[in-house]
Amino acid sequence: MTPKPKKKKFAKAPPAKVRAAKSAKTRNPKRPARALGTDPHRVAAILAKLDEAYPSATCELHHNNAFELLIATILSAQCTDARVNQVTETLFKKYPDAKAFAYANPSELEQEIRPTGFFRNKTKSVMGACRGILQNFGGEVPRSMDEILTLPGVARKTGNVVLGTAFGIPSGIVVDTHVQRISNRLDLTRNEDPKKIEQDLMHVIPKDKWILFSHQIIWHGRRVCQARKPKCVECNLESLCYAKDKTV
Ligand code: SF4
Repeated sequence: MTPKPKKKKFAKAPPAKVRAAKSAKTRNPKRPARALGTDPHRVAAILAKLDEAYPSATCELHHNNAFELLIATILSAQCTDARVNQVTETLFKKYPDAKAFAYANPSELEQEIRPTGFFRNKTKSVMGACRGILQNFGGEVPRSMDEILTLPGVARKTGNVVLGTAFGIPSGIVVDTHVQRISNRLDLTRNEDPKKIEQDLMHVIPKDKWILFSHQIIWHGRRVCQARKPKCVECNLESLCYAKDKTV
């Protein structure tokens, strides 16, 4: 008789308790024994270093107003800002406002935004958001998180980008892939879920820093603290960082 194959333990994800124990074992031993690195002095030191490295960090999506930034941000999902900027350079000439997008020919628009990827969904989001702006907000991008979240294709990340960058409203902290990775590396959170990370960061970062901090971390992630091989030797936060995947 052929013996029954042994069931693989944890064929899917292991339970949370096991994951936590494993993560504790693999944590960098140099890291001081504390749950999170969020004491105000350490956070202030991180912010000072970010100010030193990126004093004028801002959104890298080209735009002339809040509306253009909203469209560019929707298009930037899973796409580089450089690619979005190439597309919007001609797109905004053809579609200068919400009305133009709302009444666009969807197949034409799909082809125009195709280089940004996920073009069918993005077309639906862009046209839906523009219809929402026309129908509910008099053709203007709304200025509150509750209102902007009613637009199709707009979640908190996009809302924070637009409200923060275009209107200077600190509605929250933008949590993209860079902020997600670096806030964990810097021990500012232990969460992986963007909504929880945002809540954690909003507790430890002073509100008047929310907008700049988001841009600074995104810049840091693009230039230095990259996902695969962070350039720790060039990083001015190195003395404050105990990430287990540090390269120095
Ligand atoms: S030391 Fe390395 S891992 Fe830590 S923040 Fe700097 S680049 Fe990122």
